[in-house]
Amino acid sequence: MIIMHAAIFYFFVFFIQGASANSLAEIRVLLDKVEAPNKMHLTIHAPDGFIIIPHSKKSKPFLEEHPCLLIEGQNGSFLLHTKPSLISNKKIPKQSVLSNAQTITITPRKKSPITINDKQYYGNCTIHIDKHKKSYYLINTLPLEEYVYSVLLYESYAHWPNEMQKVQAVATRTFAARCMNEAKNKQAVYDIKNNIFHQRYDGTHNYDHLRQAIEETKDLIITHENRAALTMFDACCGGIIPSKLDTIDFSKAPYLKRSYRCTFCKNFSLYRWKYNCSLHDLTQSLLATSLKSKVRPCGPLKKLQVIDHDAAGSVNYLEYRGRAGNIKLATHKIKNCLGNGLRSKFFTLKQKGDILTFKGKGFGHGLGLCQHGARAMVNKNYDYKKILAYYFPKTKLSLLSKIK
Ligand SMILES: [Zn+2]
Repeated sequence: MIIMHAAIFYFFVFFIQGASANSLAEIRVLLDKVEAPNKMHLTIHAPDGFIIIPHSKKSKPFLEEHPCLLIEGQNGSFLLHTKPSLISNKKIPKQSVLSNAQTITITPRKKSPITINDKQYYGNCTIHIDKHKKSYYLINTLPLEEYVYSVLLYESYAHWPNEMQKVQAVATRTFAARCMNEAKNKQAVYDIKNNIFHQRYDGTHNYDHLRQAIEETKDLIITHENRAALTMFDACCGGIIPSKLDTIDFSKAPYLKRSYRCTFCKNFSLYRWKYNCSLHDLTQSLLATSLKSKVRPCGPLKKLQVIDHDAAGSVNYLEYRGRAGNIKLATHKIKNCLGNGLRSKFFTLKQKGDILTFKGKGFGHGLGLCQHGARAMVNKNYDYKKILAYYFPKTKLSLLSKIK
């Protein structure tokens, strides 16, 4: 049943204003961005229904007691449907409401997770249609500590020891805090994406033992000049020396310019790797990408060679020599079309007949925290503070709530 309720309205106006004044307590995670609002179809569940808040002076918040809500985009507006069903033996008929607000927030009526298209999340969800009515953003807002707990499962390994979870918890919280600050400065509608470009996040989980690391590092981040550091991390650095990377502007993040080699990760299987690929297969893979129009006139690949790398061993460009012409290719274009073949940009390349052999180092970008290195440091009894100081020199631990 949909009920207008003035008291709820004033409570939530206050709540929304309060939330923005203390924005570091909660994080807004972008779950999806769809370029065609009319194609928006969301199914949202909460066992006790919802409080729906249109962010508009013309519309008031309302209660929806029904546990299932369907939301569709309709010419830049939101169409909210409920399914007919029984609640407490009372038949609730199907209802539909149209909201012209640009943004609506949907919060479970009672403290429970919210299910959005079959995935469960803590907090609430906000749907925002941009002012040109061309894109909609689906955003999950939740307490930062709950977010860090959720991300641990996806960016760490659940079976790793608690000290390693603490390393990852501080790195994850710091990265999130930095994104939140940047979003605030840009007045963006969300703080962070839910994918590998930021941090992987896929809602709630039941790996409760990970809460210990969250509790034991609560509110802790690492800072440089009183600002949350850019805590990049990857699976394995391969022993490269980050300060020798020439494509990174370290002036903005001097703590990423580590000038010593991590060899703690040397027992990890991808510390060194090898990948073979035939000239024919690489040609076909490239022709299946957006590079098709540039590669096709060059003809089938005869030779591939590195033409630009830096002192850290990062290959920036390769030359594709075809039967009918040559083309310069950025490494990430080759990397993308070889799937999991190339684990990093740190490799050498040899060709024998029509077989290319890539010999490489590490798994990832080589900057910041090396997860398998940190894991090995825990085995050698380093604590999380020492590990973070090792991978992020010139930073210090700070309490996020004390940062202005
Ligand atoms: Zn390493």
